Amino acid sequence: MNNAVPPNPYSPYATADPDTRHLFPIPPELGPPTPGTLLFAGCHGLAVVPDDPIEIDPATEQLPHGLCMPCVDSLRGLAHTDTRPLTDCRVCCHITRNNSLCATCRATAHHLWQDTRVTAVPPPAPQTDPSQKERS
Ligand SMILES: [Zn+2]
Ligand SMILES: [Zn+2]
Repeated sequence: MNNAVPPNPYSPYATADPDTRHLFPIPPELGPPTPGTLLFAGCHGLAVVPDDPIEIDPATEQLPHGLCMPCVDSLRGLAHTDTRPLTDCRVCCHITRNNSLCATCRATAHHLWQDTRVTAVPPPAPQTDPSQKERS
């Protein structure tokens, strides 16, 4: 079986693992998420919605390679607690788990970056999370 899925599109403001494909636990009645937007994925990280969404049946064991397993777990209804440290957003001062830049400010900066390819708000350095490394 060789059906690997590519990771989500790049954004300097994404916080989810850039090497895996993240899934968006959005109720079907809300419709598919808009491609190109920076949204919370099932693993609590922020990832860019790809142009070609993949349909995953979370009940099947035959999942394609390259998926973020915490995202799959969230589709299966297994909630993961968000254990990332709380910090102040350095732009709007809201409390955030997204490494010094909150989800709202990241989404705003991401859209600006997409239009202009200029990082008006410098993205914070990636957080080193020891629990992330244990998986690989
Ligand atoms: Zn994920
Ligand atoms: Zn903010």
